[in-house]
Amino acid sequence: MELLFLGTSAGTPTRQRNLSALALQEGRDWWLVDCGEATQHQLLRTPLSLQHLQALFITHVHGDHCYGLPGLLASAGMQGRQHPLPIIAPEPIRHWLQASLALTGLQLPFELHFQAVEALAPWQDLYWQVQPVALSHRVPSFAYSFTERFPNVRLDLARLQRDGIPRGPLWGQLYRGLDPEYAGRRLHSLDYRHPARRIVVAGDNDQPGLLADICQQARVLVHEATYTEAVAARTGSRGHSTAATVARFAEAIRLPALLLTHFSPRYRHPPARYCLEDLRLEAIRHY
Ligand SMILES: [Zn+2]
Repeated sequence: MELLFLGTSAGTPTRQRNLSALALQEGRDWWLVDCGEATQHQLLRTPLSLQHLQALFITHVHGDHCYGLPGLLASAGMQGRQHPLPIIAPEPIRHWLQASLALTGLQLPFELHFQAVEALAPWQDLYWQVQPVALSHRVPSFAYSFTERFPNVRLDLARLQRDGIPRGPLWGQLYRGLDPEYAGRRLHSLDYRHPARRIVVAGDNDQPGLLADICQQARVLVHEATYTEAVAARTGSRGHSTAATVARFAEAIRLPALLLTHFSPRYRHPPARYCLEDLRLEAIRHY
């Protein structure tokens, strides 16, 4: 599984960074979370094909997360896509897309299978079980947790060795999900098998703590860090998180890995007054 950031800027694009869009890639199949304007231009620099886009998720209605949708869908049609495309998004996105398609005379050669995220209903395909979680922002905003449905079973070799479980038939039984007896005690296969991988991708949010439960099983959390604390204190963070807020949360729940994104366009590369490095340094002071 690879995560490909197609844009990491908040609000407006910069010369170096486009607006929010994240591709989850598994082989040639991929899933898209958010679709800021010009996401399809970013795709031209990748091997990703709109024919192999499995589903599209939108975290909230703000334009920097969805204005790329009509163009991307039109291009998918022109490239000959015919199989349906699932879209999981806030209900207003459905109305906006319907209006855009109708008013610009765009007839897609494939169906859109729309699921409103507000019901917080799970969605699944052959690869993922996806669970939405409600966040805190100026408009309804959501995270999506992606959990593998059919993980490749792998044994936790370090733990087997630490517990002195001898290599042989016992390992085979644990691998197959059985709970064999050894040295007078019952072994539980769940203790010795790596759990299914889970990735949580959050939309704009000023309360990372809302993700505490869903992140318990997560390998990685992708979360916005729009500002450093110094900038947020001066300008007001208006529904967003700082790098420090997210990092403290990640530390508190002992998250294995944290990926920050959605940085204010003021953060650039040196010698700019505000540097992207400031966000990273603030995060690692807490996590
Ligand atoms: Zn945003």
